[in-house]
Formats: sequence, structure tokens, C-alpha cells
Amino acid sequence: MRDILAPESARWRRFTDVFAEVAELAGYGFVIPPMMEDLGVFTRLGEATEIVTKEMYDFVDKGDRHVALRPEQTAGVCRAYVEHRPITPWKTWYSGPNFRYEKPQRGRYRQFDQVGIEVLGSDDAHLDVEVIALGWEFYRRLGLQRVELLLNSLGEPGDRARYIDALRSHFESADLTAQSRATLAKNPLRVLDSKRSEDESAIEAAPTIDQYWSDAAAEHFATVRAGLEALAIPYTIDLKLVRGLDYYRRTTFEFAGLTLDSAQNALGGGGRYDGLVEALGGPPTPGIGFALGVDRTLIACDDEGVFGAPDTDVDVFVVDTVGGGEAVVLTHELRAAGISVDRSFDGRSMKAQMKGANRSGAAYAVIVGSDELAADEVAIRPLRSGGDQVSVARSELVPDLQSRLEEGNR
Ligand code: AMP
Repeated sequence: MRDILAPESARWRRFTDVFAEVAELAGYGFVIPPMMEDLGVFTRLGEATEIVTKEMYDFVDKGDRHVALRPEQTAGVCRAYVEHRPITPWKTWYSGPNFRYEKPQRGRYRQFDQVGIEVLGSDDAHLDVEVIALGWEFYRRLGLQRVELLLNSLGEPGDRARYIDALRSHFESADLTAQSRATLAKNPLRVLDSKRSEDESAIEAAPTIDQYWSDAAAEHFATVRAGLEALAIPYTIDLKLVRGLDYYRRTTFEFAGLTLDSAQNALGGGGRYDGLVEALGGPPTPGIGFALGVDRTLIACDDEGVFGAPDTDVDVFVVDTVGGGEAVVLTHELRAAGISVDRSFDGRSMKAQMKGANRSGAAYAVIVGSDELAADEVAIRPLRSGGDQVSVARSELVPDLQSRLEEGNR
């Protein structure tokens, strides 16, 4: 687990702001599920899912409840739906940390943030298009270009079951690694996820899901594709895209970052899920959503040289050579007027304070010494651009700085 300090942390906040803008423009409401749930909420994600069986931070609390830190947020959102029964379609977005006991490496951490959306209560294929398009729009706003949308349909639950049977018999007679054999016993679909080169040829030769789609599933998928085409969102069909969690059906998708290593290039993904709300005690309710990893998306931004850390420099630095008390009042006044200001403490010399002013990145130093104090004035010294120091009446300071800063922004 890591600390994220400024200015990188400012970039994280901006990241969430951009996501919020995209989601809220489409009528999605912010949901804040708890960071910890009853263990059962997550085990319903599927016993064959590694994030549930191997990677969960679970423990017994002081009240003897078996709880877990959330490894993802879909389950919590579905649990919240069951508890509150909001009007459908319930369109939500979220952001925040998840916890998985994974082997930490670049782009993979034990505490990591995701932003995501979930919609509960509609089966409409046009909703799938909306959801995918929001992810796409988000990447566009970050400035990312080298993102590939991979698309698949896992069919209806019945199709999926027949496909799993076919996969099982295929893999049983194939040459697989011991790890994949173990996966096969639990969930044949997940064998397709293996990135081990020894499994490659068996996966290559495996049957594909499209041979098992029912008419309804094929039609749903055709509508999704037509919608994406109408929006000019490019996609690649990947019939072996199965995604991590067991409850997906019909549309599944992944956003791959083309600048990243292929084993680690999923920036995010999602799909339709079925049965999860029911498993949590609610009525049968269709759902669709996606989650995007903040870390990996920012790595992709670095690779493409877009969406850097925002400028967090202050506008003004107050230099007070008459004891520091004047700076107390000046900083307060300027901040109240919406101007960002910093100052020195500890009675530093004029020279040390000017050094601090330059380090702060401020556009102007506002200087108050004994002469200024006696004349009820302050001096304004431009720091970034050239230009002379001027004296202004104390009462003129705020409007004067405001017009200078406005000019500078123009
Ligand atoms: P998942 O919930 O496993 O489908 O993951 C969705 C996205 O979250 C991935 O594509 C990654 O970008 C991100 N992600 C998942 N696990 C981690 C992790 N341990 N550390 C950092 N990012 C992660």
C-alpha cells in the first residue's frame, strides 16, 4: 500500500472530477458504499473467483462478524440496491479504494482506486451502448488515444452453461499447465484468461462462445454493436474475453491500454451481470457496469504524455518583514476573495521569504515592510513575468491583484 502525495494526489482528484463530470452529464448519481461488508456479500461474486478465494482481506470483528474489505464495488452497490430498492433504472457512479492481497508490482497494488458505474434494472442493449460510450468518453477527456475496446458476449445463462460444458471437454483432453488444470476444475471459462505460454495452443484451439449464442443473445449483441458503430466508437471482437468475475453474461468488454505490457494492459472493464442482486436477496434484476483502475489509467496517461499533474501553485506569496502579523491579515483577506496565497512562518529574513515566494511558484509577491505599513500601502512584485514592483494602497490590493491575475489568465 502506498502514500500518494501532492502534486500526484492533485492529479488523482482531478481524475475523479473528470469522471464525475462524464457520469453526471448522463444522469448517474454518486454512490458511496462502505469499504467493508459482510463477507457473504463478496463470496456471492463466485467461489471460483480468485479475488474472493485468495485475495480478500477478511477478518472477524469484535462483534464476531466475519467481514471483508471490499475487493471491488459492484457487489456493495448491488447489496445497497437490495437494501434501499431505489427506482430503476438505478444509475450510479462511484470512486474509491479496493483491497486485494495480490503480489504488488507496477500497476498492481494491494490498495488501489477505481472509478466505475453500475446500472441496475434494465436489460436494454442501448444501455450497454450508453455505458460503454461513457467509458470511451472518459478516456477521450483524459486525452488518451491508444485505448482499444475489446468486446464479447457471454450469451444467456443457458448459452454460457453449454459453452462451459464444451470448454470443459475440450480442455480435459488438452495439454494444460497444472494451474490451469486447477482452474478448469472450478471454472473452465477462466482457463481462457491464462497468460501462461504453455496454455496458449490449447486456448487457441478452444471452441468460441459465438457458436453457443441463442438468438436473443445474438440479437442483443448485434444491437450493442450497431449502437457503437452509430457513435463511431471502434471496437474489436474478442470471443475469448471472459473477465474476472463469475456473474457476467451477455455483453462483456475491456479497455486495453496499447502502451502497456500485454499481461497488464487492462485499464478497466465490465459487462452485464445477472443473478447477483438475486443472490443477495433481491428480486431478479439485470445490471451492467464497469470499473476503471486509476493507477493503470494514469500509467497510460504518462505513456501518452497527457493528463499530467495539474498546476497547484499559489497565485500570491505574502512577504512580511514587520513580524508576521500583517501576513496573518493579508492572507486571510486574499483567500476570502478567492485568491490562493501562501506565506512564510518563523520570522524568516526578507531574503529567505523571497526564496520561499519563488519556490511557491506564485505569480506575485505582496510585500509589507515598515515603510509600507506607515503609508498604509503594500508592494506588489511580479515573480513569473518581468515588470517592476509597484506600491498600491492597502484598500486597493484585492481589486488590483484580481485584475492582474485575470489579465495573466487571458
Ligand atoms: P477488475 O475489477 O479486476 O475487473 O479490475 C478493473 C480494473 O481495475 C483493472 O483493469 C485495473 O486497471 C484495476 N485493478 C484491478 N486490480 C488492481 C490492483 N491490484 N492494482 C491496481 N489496479 C487494479
